[in-house]
Amino acid sequence: MNQAIRDSQQRKLILEYLLNRKDHPTAKDIYDLVKWSLPSISMGNLYRNLQILISQGLVKKIELGSISRFDANTSVHAHIRCELCGKVEDLEIGLDDLYGMIKQVDGLYQISGFSLEFRGLCPECKSKTKFQYDDVYGLELLMALKVIGKPVSCPQIALATGRHPQSVNGKLKNLVERGLVTSISKGIYKITQDGLECIKEEK
Ligand code: ZN
Ligand code: MN
Repeated sequence: MNQAIRDSQQRKLILEYLLNRKDHPTAKDIYDLVKWSLPSISMGNLYRNLQILISQGLVKKIELGSISRFDANTSVHAHIRCELCGKVEDLEIGLDDLYGMIKQVDGLYQISGFSLEFRGLCPECKSKTKFQYDDVYGLELLMALKVIGKPVSCPQIALATGRHPQSVNGKLKNLVERGLVTSISKGIYKITQDGLECIKEEK
C-alpha cells in the first residue's frame, strides 16, 4: 500500500476519533487510541496527518495551558479549562457575546477569528477539594506556587499567572494571614503545608 493511501486512511480514522471526543485530546491521547487500530502509525505520521486535517479546516488546534489539543468542533466557541485536573470543555459563545470586545477594534482590524480560554475549577474538582472555592483567585495563586515548587517573589508569581503584581501582592498578604502561604524572607513566598493540604484532592 502506498503512503498516500495509508495517510488518507489514517486521517479518516483520526478525524472519526476526534469527532467522537468532546474532551480536546492531546496528540499523545490521539496516538494512544489510534494505534490500537493502526499499530504501524508513528507519532510523526500522526502529526503530519493532523497538520493536513488542520489545513483542510476539519480540525482546530487549540493551545491551552501550554499544551496543544485538538478539536474537531470547528464552530465558533470558547473553552473552559479546569486548573486542577486539566479537563477542557466547550463553552458556546457567539459573536454577539463578543460584541463589546469587537467594537474596540472594529474598523481597525479585520477580524478572522478568536481564541478565548476561561479557567477555573470543574464541578468534580470543586466538590473534591477542601478549599473555599469562592476564592478562585487565591486558589490560582496556590496552584501556581505549588507548580513552581520553590520560593518565589511576587513579580515572579505575577508573571506566572498573568496577573497584575499589585493585585498579586494583596492576595498573597491575605493568603499569608490565612496561613496558606508563608514569607520566608522579605518579598519571597512559599506555599505552606496547610496551603498544600487545602488544594489536595480528597482521595
Ligand atoms: Zn477538574
Ligand atoms: Mn472545543
